[in-house]
Amino acid sequence: MKMLSTLIGCLIAGLAVFGQGRGNQAPGPTVTVRGHTFTQQSLFQRNVGAPDDQTAQFPPHKIIGNLYYVGTKSLSAFLVVTPQGNILINSTYERNVPTIQKSVEQLGFQFSDTKILLGSHAHGDHQEGDALVKQLTGAQVMAMAEDVPALQAMKPGGKDHPIDKVLHDGESVTLGGTTLVAHLTPGHTRGNTTWALRVQDGGKTYDVVIIGSFGTNPGTRLVGNATVPGIVDEYNRTFKVARALKVDVPLGSHPGMYNMEEKFAKLGTSVQNPFVDPDGYKLEVDIDEAMFRAVLAEQQKAAQ
Ligand SMILES: [Zn+2]
Repeated sequence: MKMLSTLIGCLIAGLAVFGQGRGNQAPGPTVTVRGHTFTQQSLFQRNVGAPDDQTAQFPPHKIIGNLYYVGTKSLSAFLVVTPQGNILINSTYERNVPTIQKSVEQLGFQFSDTKILLGSHAHGDHQEGDALVKQLTGAQVMAMAEDVPALQAMKPGGKDHPIDKVLHDGESVTLGGTTLVAHLTPGHTRGNTTWALRVQDGGKTYDVVIIGSFGTNPGTRLVGNATVPGIVDEYNRTFKVARALKVDVPLGSHPGMYNMEEKFAKLGTSVQNPFVDPDGYKLEVDIDEAMFRAVLAEQQKAAQ
């Protein structure tokens, strides 16, 4: 009994650490989309991975064009390299910042060339390290307006969360010839941001999308949510926005959202870049929307 309660305590603590709301060990509803079956819990687990995956360096690599991966096994960080300095997307946990710096340097770039820091959404596993990145590089930190309150509450070691520029839906961020467009895709957080950019590779232009998160984490209240009464409308809006985006290369705040490991293993084995995967993007949106609808239906039924 003691062991069981310790185990449950650990699970609750684990969920709280990720900023995913209240601990909820129930597997939640199950969805199957084109042969891929997930419970709410297993989809969440696919994203966050094991505790070690969150801190273990993943081999840094070029994705396509001037876009590189510099994150851990389960927490994405991306580097956009330009002649006028670089843009980093996601600092992840503060303890991962030295790993991100190492990855940037292993690719032959300088961490101090980071001029702009962007983020996927105001959860600690994606943006806790913002203050440290700013301290080390002097980068300008930009954040979607709707995520500002949650970011301001994120204070590792008591440090204030830096926010140099507040962005709004549809706003562009340009550096050295590369433009990223911030699409507000709320639900998972109020200011959840899906970044869209175009890259050139081998004489072709590709539309890249970095999914902020379309996920409904365990513990998320869709029915009777006093803090965010319009949360269902926000998710509905997000799936509409997600489906309207033109995507050649899907990426996401967790590598599991775009099967990074599988694609990385295929790098250099064929003429086609494995990260070009428009169908994979549609599948991910379909899985996330199916899960959202299943969780909503379950909560509506329970509320009757
Ligand atoms: Zn999150």
